[in-house]
Amino acid sequence: MKRIHQLSVNLINQIAAGEVIERPSSVVKELVENSIDAGSTKIDISVSNECRNIRIADNGSGIHPDDVTLTFTKHATSKIENEKDLWNISTLGFRGEALASICSIAKVTCISKTSEFDYGVKVTAENSEIKQSKIGCALGTVMDIENIFYNQPARLKFLKSDKTEFSYIQEVIVQAALSRPDIAFSLSHNGSNILKTNADNDLLLRIKEISGENTSEHLEFVEKTDEENNIKLTGYVSNPQFTRSSKKDIRLFVNSRPVKCPVILKAIDMAYKNLLPIGKFPYVVLNFEISPSDIDVNAHPTKKEIRWQNPNLVFNFTVSAIDKALTSSSYSQKSEAGFALDTLPFYNSPKYSENATYFVTNQKKDNEKPYVNYAEKFRQISSSFTAEIIETTENTPTDTVIGQLKDTYILIETSQGLEIVDQHIADERFLYEKLLSQKEVISQLLLISDVIELEPEEVEILEQNKEKLLKFGYEIKKIGDNKIVFKKIPQILSKVSQAEIARELVNNINCNLDDAENQILITTACKAAVKAGEKLSIWQAEELIKRWRATKNPQVCPHGRPISHVLSIKDIAKFFYRQDK
Ligand code: ADP
Ligand code: MG
Repeated sequence: MKRIHQLSVNLINQIAAGEVIERPSSVVKELVENSIDAGSTKIDISVSNECRNIRIADNGSGIHPDDVTLTFTKHATSKIENEKDLWNISTLGFRGEALASICSIAKVTCISKTSEFDYGVKVTAENSEIKQSKIGCALGTVMDIENIFYNQPARLKFLKSDKTEFSYIQEVIVQAALSRPDIAFSLSHNGSNILKTNADNDLLLRIKEISGENTSEHLEFVEKTDEENNIKLTGYVSNPQFTRSSKKDIRLFVNSRPVKCPVILKAIDMAYKNLLPIGKFPYVVLNFEISPSDIDVNAHPTKKEIRWQNPNLVFNFTVSAIDKALTSSSYSQKSEAGFALDTLPFYNSPKYSENATYFVTNQKKDNEKPYVNYAEKFRQISSSFTAEIIETTENTPTDTVIGQLKDTYILIETSQGLEIVDQHIADERFLYEKLLSQKEVISQLLLISDVIELEPEEVEILEQNKEKLLKFGYEIKKIGDNKIVFKKIPQILSKVSQAEIARELVNNINCNLDDAENQILITTACKAAVKAGEKLSIWQAEELIKRWRATKNPQVCPHGRPISHVLSIKDIAKFFYRQDK
C-alpha cells in the first residue's frame, strides 16, 4: 500500500464536479440558477464550440469586487449562513459548489459589477490560477465558460453530438423560462437565435412563446390552495383532447425549482386515468408553492429531487387540483367522461349554460369547501353507463332544483310540491346500483399505505373476508394482530381516509355477517358518495338528482333509510288556509 497524502484543491474540485457537472447543460443549469438567484430580470445565454463554450449575461445584483475571487472556491456562498438556513432554502443554489466545480473543468472568465461601485471586476480562473483586474462594465454578471472538459478526456469522449448536447441545454432553458415568466430569456446557438421571450409575467403567454399557440389553446388553468397546510398549486394542464406521446412535456416545479417528482407524476397519472389513450400523456406545467421548511432540497447533488414531509398530502392535493381544472373547464362543459354532453338534451338548454357559469365561479371562490368530483365518478363507472344516462335523461321530468338546505338536503320544486332529498343517501343509492351492475371494480394500487390499527377481532373479520374484499377492489394485508394495511382500494375511494374505510368495512360486515359481499358494496358506495354538509353548486345538485332519479329503487337507501320527502302543494296550501290549490 502506498503512503497517504492530501489531494490538491483542483483534484478535489474535479472529483466534486463529477457529481454536479455531468455535461454542458449542467453548466448552463448552474449558471442560470445563479443569475435567477441574483434577482435578474434578463438573462442571455449563448452556446458555441460544440456546446463547450457557454456565455451567460445577466442584469442581476452583481458580485462585490472583494468577493469575486471567493466565488471560485468550494463551499463559498452568499445564500446560506448556518445549519438552520439549510432547512429553509428559498434560493436555487446554496452549496457554493458550482463555480468551483466549473473552474476545475473549464476556463472561466467572470465580469461583474454591483450598483454600489462605478467600476466592475474581471476575474479569470484557469487551472486553479485566479487573476483579477478592474474593468468598466454594466450592472450584472457575465460568465464566460470556455472549453468545457478540456482537462477531462474521459468526460469529453462521452459527450454526444452538438445537436444532442444543445437539446439538453435547450430543455434547461425551457424549464427556467417556464419557472419564471417574469424574467426575459434569450438563447442562441452558434450565433443563431433559438429562443427569445418577453418578461410579461404571464405563464400562458410564456407557454405560447415556448410551445406555440396550438398548445396554449388546449390548456386549462390549475389553481388550488390549501391554507391549512400552506400549500398552493398553480399552472396549466392540457385537456384530454391534446396529447403528447412522451412524458417530456410534463414539467414540474417546486417553489419555481425544476424537479423530478415521482409523487406528482403519479398524481398526474391518476388525474388523467381513463381520460387518455394508453401511451399518451398530457402537457403539464405545474408549480407547487410550499413552505421551504416542509421539503428537503438537499437530497440529491443536482437538487432535482426533493423530499416531501407529507407525500400523501401532495399526492391527493395534486389529483384534486387537476381534476378540478379539468372538470370546471370549458373542455368539460363540452365533453365529459368520453361522451359529448351536448348530445344530451339537458345540456343544450339555456338553463345549463347559466348554471355552468355559476358552477365555474363557485368553484373558484370556494377553495376551502370539499370538492365533489363528478368527472372522476363518471369516468369510473363503466361505459355502459353512457347509453343509460342518455336514455334516462330523456324521460326526466322537468324538476327545478331550488338549492341546498344546511348543505345536506337538496330542495326541488316538482309538479307535486316541494321535494326534500338527502344528498348523501341519494348519491349512495346511485353509486350502489352502479357498483352492483359493474362486472369489474377498478382499484387503485396505493402509493403509500397507512398502517391502520384495529381490535384483533376486527382484523380477523377482515381477514376472513379477504377474498370477498378482493373481488370488490380491496386488497388488505395483516401486519400484526391489531394492524392492517391496504394494498389496493377501489379507485373511487382514492381520496377517502384509509382508516375510515377500514372502520366502516368492519362495522358494516359485522352487522350482517351473512351478507358480507353486499355490505362491502354498501361501504364503497357510502364512502364514495357526496357527504352531508358538502356544499354543491346548482349544477352539481342537478346532476346528482338526475342520476338518483334514474336508479331502479330511488326511494330507500341500501341501509333502508328513506331518501326523499315530498311536501305536497295541497298540504302546503292547507297550512296557509289557501282554498285555491
Ligand atoms: P451557490 O449558488 O450554491 O451559492 P455557486 O458556486 O453557484 O454557489 O456561486 C457562488 C456564489 O457566487 C453565489 O452564492 C453568489 O453569491 C455568487 N454568484 C454566482 N453567480 C452570480 C451571478 N450571476 N450574480 C451574482 N452573484 C453570483
Ligand atoms: Mg449556484
